[in-house]
Amino acid sequence: MTVAPVAFVDLQAQRQRLGSRIDEALTRVLDHGIFIMGPEVVELERQLSAFCGAAETITCANGTDAITLVMMAEQIGEGDAVFMPSFTFVATAEATVLRGATPYFVDVGLDDFAIDPDALEVAITDARQRGLRPRAILAVDLFGLPADYNRLHAIAQQHAMLLVADAAQSFGGQYHNRMVGDLADYTTTSFFPAKPLGCYGDGGAIFTADAARADLLRSLRFHGKGEDKYDNVRIGLNSRLDTLQAAILLEKLRIFRDELMTRERVAARYDTLLKLLAPALVVPKIPQGLRSAWAQYTVRSAARDRIIAACRARDIPVNIYYPIPLHKQAGYRQYPASPDGLPVSERLSREVVSLPMHPYLSDDQQDEIAAIVKSALT
Ligand SMILES: *Cc1c(COP(=O)(O)O)cnc(C)c1O
Repeated sequence: MTVAPVAFVDLQAQRQRLGSRIDEALTRVLDHGIFIMGPEVVELERQLSAFCGAAETITCANGTDAITLVMMAEQIGEGDAVFMPSFTFVATAEATVLRGATPYFVDVGLDDFAIDPDALEVAITDARQRGLRPRAILAVDLFGLPADYNRLHAIAQQHAMLLVADAAQSFGGQYHNRMVGDLADYTTTSFFPAKPLGCYGDGGAIFTADAARADLLRSLRFHGKGEDKYDNVRIGLNSRLDTLQAAILLEKLRIFRDELMTRERVAARYDTLLKLLAPALVVPKIPQGLRSAWAQYTVRSAARDRIIAACRARDIPVNIYYPIPLHKQAGYRQYPASPDGLPVSERLSREVVSLPMHPYLSDDQQDEIAAIVKSALT
C-alpha cells in the first residue's frame, strides 16, 4: 500500500481547494491599500458574529492578546484570582500574570479535558482563605470541545464572577444548540494557522453580547483611542487584525462549515478504527448535545510512548499536547493550585497523544495510522 505522506494539519490541501480565491482576495487588498482596519476587517467581524451568534465581534492581533484585552477591559489586577485549568497551553495563563493578578490552577476532567467544576468550587473557597478576590473563571475548550458552560455559568453567578471562554481551539464548536462565541461573558479565539479557522499568520478575536464592553475593547485594541487615534482616553495596546489576514479569513470562512463537518467525519472514523483497542487506548468522548471543532484528535494510553515511537518510525506526525501542566511549569509553579492536587492533569500529561487531524485526511491515511497505532499496542 502506498499512501501519500501524512501532514499533522494539511494547510496545502486546503489552499488547493480554495484555488485562486486567496490570491484574488490578497490582490484586492494590495490594490485598495487600506492595510490597517480595512473594509475586510469590518466585513469579517460582521460574518463572524453571524456565524456564532455573538452580538459583537472584536478582532485583534492574536488569541493571547484577546485574553489580555478582556483582562484590561475588566480591570483585573493585583489581588484578583483568575481560575483556569492547569492542563492547557501557556497562553491561557500569561495575561493574568502580566496584569498582576493571580492565576489559580484547577484540575480538569479525565474525559473532557476541561476545568472540573467540583474542583473549581473547592479552589474558590481556598482562594478566599488565601486573601484573594475571586474575579473570573477562564475556561478552556481543549482540543475543540466546549467546557461544561451550564455548570460554569451557575458557579460564576453564585460568586459574582466573570465567565471567560478561551476558545482558541473550539471556534465552530457547539453546546446544546448554541455556538462557541455565545457561551460566556467573553469568548476569545485564535486564528493561528493550525487552529480550526486559521489565517496565514497571527490573528484573534473576542466575542461578547454586550455593546458597551465591545466599545471598550475596540478602544483598548487601538491604543485606548477615544474619538480618534490621537484622542487617547485610556491605556491600550496595538492589537489589530491585519486587513490581509481578514481577507484570507473571509475566504476560509466560506468553507468552514463544510470543513467542520468533514472533521467530524474524520473523528468518527478514527473512533471506529481505534475504539477496538480499549482499554489500552481511550478515544475522545463527546457528551450528548455537544459538538467539537476537532482542533485535535487526542487519545489516552498508558503506552503512549510506544505509540509515538511507532508513528515516528513510519513518518506519521504526532504531538503531545501538553507534556507539562501549567502548575508544574518553572514559570508558573509558584501560583496557587487545587489544594488536593491535580492528579488528572498530571495523568493526562503522561498519557495523551494527538494524531493527525484535518479535513483533508484520506481514508487510506487513517487506515495506515490506525494500523500503526494498533501494532504499537499489540
Ligand atoms: C493557540 C492558543 C492560544 C493563543 O493563541 P495565539 O493566537 O497563538 O496567541 C490560547 N489558548 C489556547 C488554549 C490555545 O490553544
